[in-house]
Amino acid sequence: MLTGRNAIVTGSTSGIGLGMAEALAAQGANLVINGFGDSGEIEALRTRLASQHDVKVVFSPADMRKPDDIAAMIALADSELGGVDILVNNAGIQHVSPVEDFPVEKWNDIIAINLTSAFHTTRLVVPQLKQKGWGRIINLASAHALVASPFKSAYVAAKHGIAGFTKTIALELAEVGTTVNAICPGYVQTPLVEKQIPDTMKARNMTREQVIRDVLLHAQPTKRFVTVEEIGALAVFLCSPGGASMTGAILQMDGGWAAQ
Ligand code: NAD
Repeated sequence: MLTGRNAIVTGSTSGIGLGMAEALAAQGANLVINGFGDSGEIEALRTRLASQHDVKVVFSPADMRKPDDIAAMIALADSELGGVDILVNNAGIQHVSPVEDFPVEKWNDIIAINLTSAFHTTRLVVPQLKQKGWGRIINLASAHALVASPFKSAYVAAKHGIAGFTKTIALELAEVGTTVNAICPGYVQTPLVEKQIPDTMKARNMTREQVIRDVLLHAQPTKRFVTVEEIGALAVFLCSPGGASMTGAILQMDGGWAAQ
């Protein structure tokens, strides 16, 4: 279905980004993957994705805090793949702390990676999407784009921001064949969430099972984690002909969390 399309997925060396990259490649899309990690493992991932799905896959080490790196990633897509059709703004980090203790550097990094990087990627690909008359922009927001939790001020601010950015760009591109949507997952069991478990066990004097059931999945009525495959399937739908009129949507995939 996506043969001949080129997709950039930021933050795709693990977790949800990897799941979306995998789902798009399975439909025939060529990929720019991006993110941090062990260089040998990333190269093994790149070659596996390429051979398993018979698509071209290139890796960009761009740091989403750095506008020049982001420009180099878009230039790589142009030179190696011949341009971008699908942009998935997924890279994101978390930090949990009361606002009065929130490290300024962490606040700046979260806003830069989770929000501002999407501005840079978007402004750099929009001219070619307009020219082609077809495009898809998918922003990975969160249930925290719709509701808040204490101690996550930077993350919740960035995610509410990306929801507003999504709606704005959807309006700007509404007549030129590019849809712009945000996916809002509840908790997904990825390294980003795993990292929060030991600190929460310590802070609340709980077992791992108690943290998962009573803290992480407390607000998630289905009482199970959303899976990366479910999010990948939604991304594929958004890129399909059936998704052509869905734009500016803030799409909950949160096991009912934000319905409460
Ligand atoms: P993850 O930690 O598994 O993956 C994050 C990816 O981003 C990795 O590839 C990492 O290398 C990359 N990354 C981090 N900093 C970067 C930087 N400066 N430049 C480039 N790449 C960078 O996290 P995840 O859970 O898969 O999260 C992916 C997205 O989904 C994030 O935007 C996150 O906020 C969102 N999300 C996650 C959950 C969840 O429960 N896991 C829920 C809702 C939304």
